[in-house]
Amino acid sequence: MNIFQKTESEVRTYSRSFPVTFNKAKGAVLTTEEGREYVDFLAGAGTLNYGHNNDRLKQALIDYIAEDGLTHGLDMQSVAKENYLKAFRNLILEPRGMGDFKVMFTGPTGTNAVEAALKLARKVKGRSNIISFTNGFHGVSGGALAATGNQHHRGGMGTSLSDVTRMPFDGYLGEGIDTTEYLDRVLSDPSSGVDHPAAVIVETIQGEGGLNAASFEWLRNLEKVCRRHDMLLIVDDIQSGCGRSGHFFSFEAVGIQPDIVTLSKSLSGYGLPFAVTIFRPELDQWSPGEHNGTFRGNNHAFVTAAAAFETFWSDDRFEKEVQRKADKLRKGLQAIVKAHGAKELKLKGRGLMSGIECPDGDLASAVTGSAFKQGLIIETSGAHDQVVKCLVPLVITDAEIEFGLKVLNTAFAEALAGRESQAS
Ligand SMILES: *Cc1c(COP(=O)(O)O)cnc(C)c1O
Repeated sequence: MNIFQKTESEVRTYSRSFPVTFNKAKGAVLTTEEGREYVDFLAGAGTLNYGHNNDRLKQALIDYIAEDGLTHGLDMQSVAKENYLKAFRNLILEPRGMGDFKVMFTGPTGTNAVEAALKLARKVKGRSNIISFTNGFHGVSGGALAATGNQHHRGGMGTSLSDVTRMPFDGYLGEGIDTTEYLDRVLSDPSSGVDHPAAVIVETIQGEGGLNAASFEWLRNLEKVCRRHDMLLIVDDIQSGCGRSGHFFSFEAVGIQPDIVTLSKSLSGYGLPFAVTIFRPELDQWSPGEHNGTFRGNNHAFVTAAAAFETFWSDDRFEKEVQRKADKLRKGLQAIVKAHGAKELKLKGRGLMSGIECPDGDLASAVTGSAFKQGLIIETSGAHDQVVKCLVPLVITDAEIEFGLKVLNTAFAEALAGRESQAS
């Protein structure tokens, strides 16, 4: 028994799939203490879009620390925050027609950005119900505020912790059925039993739910239903944002305009904890400190995030490269699907948030297990862990993509052969 097994809680997860001890990481490569290298098709579950230890972000952080820049400052004004806000506004928000959006620094996790988004929507609309979708994933908190006594803070929630109505996501009832019609119908019927919601929260590409990419048409219809029924549209872009879809925001190519957007995971660019909730200015109805936290605004993350915006988002070259690599990866995955039984396997996702759906989780886990033995870190997602999920760093090289595809091809061959020999 090693120290992890002896002392770390049973709650641990990724360390079970990859039972080695990592020591170093650079770009798309992780290195163990023994010096074995793995190509990283997990990228911190989408937190390392610019790879591990990017040189420019690292230098910006080292310089900042060397000069005794503020590390922690509650939510006080700091030069690091000033530079972050300027870069975010000038390089990300303004070019996308969102220059007037307000930026709220929440606690440093995606979950907290989602909590803030839901609280704000309920507060603004004065309604408690929220629509979310089958297989959606938005975080794991839910009890912290209920356990807090402070009335000022409790008042910001405006509801008990349950008020969510689940609706079928795009494709949930099969092809050719637009599930937004059902949503529109129950909201139009005063006897449907669904209370008028404050907002809809949606991932345009469901990450943990199995790389379900909503069609652009479905998302546009969803936006229309939101407008028709006076509900706010919240896009949870925590995993699909920061370039993963081929654009900074996953909804850019769709042409919809959410009211509230949550960002975290790759926002710091360096793997540092950092999250924001951004929204239209008229929704900024918070009173000071109504949603607060000790670690709002991580100054080190401000530094690396601003450096990431300047390095990758000053023009469209990086976006174009991501789109080219997504095309390459998806063609390779499609070839694997074709080579190993197109009926059983299915290409999923969009952009560099793509993967292969297997008929069951056993096959998918045999594939990722075989890939790990061959030097590839890759995980599954989905309700049955049935989707082999490629979340490569966006800065991955062509050679590393080719290596990963070769490994996956072998892994599918091995896993499928293993299943046949078991069946006979
Ligand atoms: C990861 C994730 C979250 C939760 O973020 P944490 O930092 O783990 O709290 C919320 N929504 C989506 C879409 C995510 O992928």
